[in-house]
Amino acid sequence: MGDKLLQKTYSIDFLSKDRLKNHGEVPQYYVEGDHEAIIPPETFKRVQAELEKRKGRHSTGSCVFSGRIYCAQCGQIYGSKTWHSTDQYRRVVWQCNSKFSGVGEAGPKLKCTTPTLTEEQIKEAFEQVLAKLALGREEIIANLREVQSQVGDVSQLETERVILVGKHKDVDILFQQEITRNASVAQDQDAYNARYDELVAEGAMLDEKIAELDARITEKQRNAERIDLFIQSLEQAGEAFTEDLWCIMVDTVTVSPQGGMKFCLTCGMHVEV
Ligand SMILES: [Zn+2]
Repeated sequence: MGDKLLQKTYSIDFLSKDRLKNHGEVPQYYVEGDHEAIIPPETFKRVQAELEKRKGRHSTGSCVFSGRIYCAQCGQIYGSKTWHSTDQYRRVVWQCNSKFSGVGEAGPKLKCTTPTLTEEQIKEAFEQVLAKLALGREEIIANLREVQSQVGDVSQLETERVILVGKHKDVDILFQQEITRNASVAQDQDAYNARYDELVAEGAMLDEKIAELDARITEKQRNAERIDLFIQSLEQAGEAFTEDLWCIMVDTVTVSPQGGMKFCLTCGMHVEV
């Protein structure tokens, strides 16, 4: 990010040059803008915020695979299981939650045949996705930029919003005029009440439409932002699994009975491996 945490490690022995991680034994200093930023600070903060959000998306278990892998046969989620939990062969595997209980109404006779996956297999599959993306990196990024600019184009919605806000102002003025006139001129109160209610209803209807537009604008901007984060991750991605890359790039993975995995990525692309 261009900032540097000084004294991240400190010397314990000048002769052996051993350095230990600083866990607070020596004060740390955070220096902003110390060296040239690779990622602009604003982007870095956005990526971190998105990461935190995506990591925390599933409250059950902190694992990044939780809630993201699905069985193509029954639609159930893949859950984790620990094999050999007490010995050195301990490993975590993921499998369809219906694997042993049977699928829905079909009952226990029809059990899913989708494969059990080790975490290594999941990571390897993701690395295959990264390798595929790397092959067409330039073209993919160019296409995504195009998609991003379309997705993020809110100019028409903004125009509609300006018109609605204008209409709302007109209603407010009429409303004010009605009230003022009623206070100064004797008039049919039933007719006045009807106009009053009508204007209130019109104002409320316009408020609702404006709120609806705002929600659509926010949604479009959020989608464009997601694609932007994806592009930036892709630009800097190596071909090795990292939790951060997984969290930013993977929306869901669907596992077929033959073991094929379909990755639905957060930019809207699908990649099968
Ligand atoms: Zn299943």
